[in-house]
Amino acid sequence: MREELVYKKKTVYECASNEIIEAAYEYAKGYVEYLDASKTEREAVISAIALAEKNGFKEYVLGAPIAVGDKFYFNNRGKNLFLFSIGTEHINNGIRIAASHIDSPRVDLKPCPLYEADGMSFFKTHYYGGIRKYQWMALPLALHGVVIKADGTKVDIAIGDSADDPIFYINDLLPHLGRATNAKTVADAFPAENLNILVGSRPIDGEEGSDLIKLNVLKILNDKYGITEEDFLSAELCCVPAANARDIGFDRSLIGAYGHDDKVCAYPSMSAIFENAGGEHTLMCILADKEETGSEGSTGMKNSLMSDLIDIIANALGGTPSIVRANSKCLSADVSAAYDPNFSQVFEKRNSALLNCGVILMKYTGAGGKSGTSDASAEYIGWLRQIMAKDGVIWQTGELGKVDVGGGGTVAKFIAEYNIDTVDLGVPVISMHAPCEVISKVDLYETYRAFSAFCKY
Ligand code: MN
Ligand code: MN
Repeated sequence: MREELVYKKKTVYECASNEIIEAAYEYAKGYVEYLDASKTEREAVISAIALAEKNGFKEYVLGAPIAVGDKFYFNNRGKNLFLFSIGTEHINNGIRIAASHIDSPRVDLKPCPLYEADGMSFFKTHYYGGIRKYQWMALPLALHGVVIKADGTKVDIAIGDSADDPIFYINDLLPHLGRATNAKTVADAFPAENLNILVGSRPIDGEEGSDLIKLNVLKILNDKYGITEEDFLSAELCCVPAANARDIGFDRSLIGAYGHDDKVCAYPSMSAIFENAGGEHTLMCILADKEETGSEGSTGMKNSLMSDLIDIIANALGGTPSIVRANSKCLSADVSAAYDPNFSQVFEKRNSALLNCGVILMKYTGAGGKSGTSDASAEYIGWLRQIMAKDGVIWQTGELGKVDVGGGGTVAKFIAEYNIDTVDLGVPVISMHAPCEVISKVDLYETYRAFSAFCKY
């Protein structure tokens, strides 16, 4: 009787076959390859397009004709990507949408970044997204981004990832002189204006005057990239950890990497559309930018493009956009916090996602009294439960932490606004937003299997 009546969360290792577990470890290799090539949203778009083209997707130009069986990607400004494939059923039956984000917290350069002070040269920075600032100090960093020069040409920069590249660095205080800082709160001890990136210390040869170290840096940048200091004014440059993904643990069951949030959901949602394109349902996979800063802007989820594309697809196939939206379903694909026994005080264990217990379905996110969340309906979750059961997907529910301890949001509410049933689904993460975040290989695979069931049934 107990077996029948009592719900018990189980790990993937307890209930999945060996084949599934082996497939999960194999699947993780493709993910790591994607992740290592995608340190920024721009790079994540480039690597996603490469995968899409390999899977028969072609570039879509707004207004071009659309027919059943077509597989397209739409590149929005190089930072936000839409993949869609047209199914065989009538378009008024709706679209299955999976929306994740490909931007991750990091340290951006300010528009006038370069200066020299007391024998060293630095970049001034402005952090992007929610970071615990001390985690980014005394850490090898790489510089990624683009510079638009005065003549309008674009220079791509990625330096710090190869073993023979130099790296960059944010100085930290030595413990010997840390007494005053140690007495402060974490919020006060690490002012954002101290996050300056060390970029040089050697003065230029054969020049007179001040700021010779800065001048030397500019000379090197000019020799290598053809840029001047003024070109920083029209640049997007950011510092990310100078490290690729690595297995964690003697058993290699976990992956430590920068940017799991949210490439660990972007990758499986893409895999699912590649695998299920050409089936009954019309599918859309959205890789959004700017989630970490509130989904604003022309490449964030608040932009009208998703709705515009739905209008275009509906009209092209003889459907009615409002009916397509009403019958569409969405998985807002984002990570959530995994219960961590080292910080048990912030979690309510019964309702936390546990590592290795499969994909998390989060009915709501938000903060306080469920403020700022779209809160999915029981009916929609019930429907998802049924389709996941068809493929034996191992899933769990999760809340970010204890009520009133903090909170967070996802893109879910911006999609639900369009009259589309939406719920958050994704991978549990340890140390979310840290320079090295941790996920489990079997949770990643169950997330892929969940997206696949969503695209299929
Ligand atoms: Mn996220
Ligand atoms: Mn995040």
